[in-house]
Amino acid sequence: MAKIAFVDFKAVKAAITMEQVLQHYGLLDKFKPGTDSLNGPCPIHKGSNPTQFRVSLSKNIWNCFSECKHGGNVLDFIADMEDVSIHAAALKAIEWFNLDPEAMAANSDRGESGETERPAAAPKAAAKPASTPKPAPTATPESNVPNTPLKFRLDKLERSHPYLTEQRGLTPETIVDFGIGYCSKGMMADRIAIPIHNVKGEVVAYAGRFIGAPPEGAPKYKLPPGFRKSQELFNLDRAIKEPVDLPLVIVEGFFDAMKLHQHGWRKVVALMGSTMSAAQEELIRQHTSSQSHVIVMLDENEAGKAGREDIACRLSKFCFVRVHQFSQPDMEPEHLTPEQVQQLLEGVL
Ligand SMILES: [Zn+2]
Repeated sequence: MAKIAFVDFKAVKAAITMEQVLQHYGLLDKFKPGTDSLNGPCPIHKGSNPTQFRVSLSKNIWNCFSECKHGGNVLDFIADMEDVSIHAAALKAIEWFNLDPEAMAANSDRGESGETERPAAAPKAAAKPASTPKPAPTATPESNVPNTPLKFRLDKLERSHPYLTEQRGLTPETIVDFGIGYCSKGMMADRIAIPIHNVKGEVVAYAGRFIGAPPEGAPKYKLPPGFRKSQELFNLDRAIKEPVDLPLVIVEGFFDAMKLHQHGWRKVVALMGSTMSAAQEELIRQHTSSQSHVIVMLDENEAGKAGREDIACRLSKFCFVRVHQFSQPDMEPEHLTPEQVQQLLEGVL
């Protein structure tokens, strides 16, 4: 686990729900939903009365009306369940739910640091740094350590958000198919959460696309700390189920891949950037033969042009590669019409 200088309890509490925590413990099935509540037996004192333990969903707090006779927030619950301190509970939550401690610490620097705890080991004289120190890297960027599948799902996503339908032109079918949606709270608040699957189809991370222009200093896409983007190709798990004789299209972004998929070209993967890592190259190699065709279709800008030359050169060592160039500057595969995608399929675009 990454070393974390500061734990912002407030941010951790805001990032996770009692529902997610109960799910983490495999207890959600034992709870009955009421109006704004979940009711069930107390998991802390291991009671059996189905109404003794109550969770308020809107307040994200819990109470045991039986033996424990107390309650609290999500961190109090984890602390009681694990019999550890609040600090240790927060660290567990960060690990279990793939939270972003760096972003949380950055938020706490902007003034909401009332509940931030400095670890006992921190030198007393050190003033609070203006910028959060980065945790010591535990792996190189090209590390071959696989991403661990997530133990939770973001399941309260708003599928019909106008950003997806109106601004991105996605159909309800595509939105459901890719499991994306608007997230109103937690780590992905105000972002479109996009699940990323590994080649086995397991969710290994959520990418969060900020709606519109992100606030100053915030990234357009947020990825969980420790997640190695270089180890995955977005949509690979499904692309490899398409016919072997169809060309594999390689694009940069999530939305490029989703739009091509929507227009009928389902054998598409996204690099999640304009470069190809060694691990991504290896994934493509594993799922192609010397007879396979690959179409490299990056954005028509400087980064895309540089990326596609390198990618084509490396892939051509083991399969047939075609580089697609758009005639208009700054064109992206996301903006292709269904007709253009069809023409592409027929090899005439
Ligand atoms: Zn209890």
